[in-house]
Amino acid sequence: MSATTTTASATAAAPAQAGQRGSYWITTFGCQMNKADSERMAGILEGMGYQPGSDEHSADLVLYNTCTIRDNAEQKVYSYLGRQAQRKRTNPHLTLVVAGCVAQQEGESLLRRVPELDLVMGPQHANRLDTLLEQVASGQQVVATGEHHILEDITTARRDSQVCAWVNVIYGCNERCTYCVVPSVRGKEQSRSPGAIRLEMEGLAERGFKEITLLGQNIDAYGRDLPGITPQGRRQHTLTDLLHHVHDVAGIERIRFATSHPRYFTERLIDACAELPKLCEHFHIPFQSGDDDVLKAMARGYTVDRYRRILERIRERMPDAAISADVIVAFPGESDAQYRRTLALIEAIGFDQVNTAAYSPRPNTPAADWPDQLPEAVKVERLQELNALVERTARQRSERYLGRIEQVLVEGTNPRDPGQRMGRTRTNRLTFFPDLAPSRSPAELEGGIIQPGDLVNVRIEKVRAFSLTGVALG
Ligand code: SF4
Repeated sequence: MSATTTTASATAAAPAQAGQRGSYWITTFGCQMNKADSERMAGILEGMGYQPGSDEHSADLVLYNTCTIRDNAEQKVYSYLGRQAQRKRTNPHLTLVVAGCVAQQEGESLLRRVPELDLVMGPQHANRLDTLLEQVASGQQVVATGEHHILEDITTARRDSQVCAWVNVIYGCNERCTYCVVPSVRGKEQSRSPGAIRLEMEGLAERGFKEITLLGQNIDAYGRDLPGITPQGRRQHTLTDLLHHVHDVAGIERIRFATSHPRYFTERLIDACAELPKLCEHFHIPFQSGDDDVLKAMARGYTVDRYRRILERIRERMPDAAISADVIVAFPGESDAQYRRTLALIEAIGFDQVNTAAYSPRPNTPAADWPDQLPEAVKVERLQELNALVERTARQRSERYLGRIEQVLVEGTNPRDPGQRMGRTRTNRLTFFPDLAPSRSPAELEGGIIQPGDLVNVRIEKVRAFSLTGVALG
């Protein structure tokens, strides 16, 4: 499962300009996979003649790309939809689309709940948005949630960043973690061919992108469904082989990948990350629980000991590597002692960042029907204590940067302080620093010395739990 948030992010932000088809607005909930899908769908819409709108209340096409991982994200979608349904009653030309995991899960029943909807489409149909909208234009209400073989990405994504891009390498997930809706909404694993992935990266490099994050719900499964066995009798296509295949794309300076699964994470992969210079020393490996019995109940397929050994090996090969993870507390039946083992693991490992969540029962998942659900008060209490610990360990990890010189890839301007540039270290720490000419006005900064896409050495002078501040050394 990828890192998830319940905040919505907007894909279109440019001023409204009526295009041939009018304006569009996409709001994205949830994980990086959804964000990548939204970028592709924005690319399709722009290819069809839609222009980015200035807000969701005036756009001619509104698309909610939804997430069902947590109940509150799902509820938020329904409240957004209520407002749009009202708008549609006075503006029949508005096109209303729900995509993503809620669409897949609810299917036709969404149309019964919100009859104003024009299109309900699951994540496997993202690349078909244009065809589906043509059906809508012919007067139909369309539901596209059937199992679908994902066509090779022939679309040009509209990228929100000009520097960093996501590239899907595998869709779907064949695991059956007992709390997770992803397999039922995103379908079976479908890997893209190494050639197609490389081609997409070359195209991105030509357009000036510098950093690529290869994405998969369970990226270590990459290639399992592709044919081919090596003379040594192993699978021909693995994530490690893919990294070797795409590593030398000219113009791409940094490569990351997510989300890793401890069950399949190999020493060969760790060695490749240590040896290939563009691979960043940052690993996102969810552990979910620090207790073996809870892990078993979650059907995660590894033990805490295996997880620890993976991290030991990473730190042996890359001592400064940053480690982030996902964790769920208050899983059904989790005792206080089991929960404390999760805290102890966080303390012992010293994570750079942990995405935390209290367990939330999701429809059509085994754990949702188990009788030993924990009370809300326990969930809240555990989550609060956990978050405080995560922040403390992240702050301790940040300390190591103080006084160091870090290479930062500049992504843009600090939205809270236009006098500062913003970027990330190789270990994925957000870093702020003034432009080389600090007296410049925001307008001048646009043509400033340091530009998005530049690699800048920054001396770190201030550290916080999740970000750093420093000065550029040129
Ligand atoms: S089933 Fe497990 S591995 Fe697959 S997406 Fe869900 S949490 Fe991740």
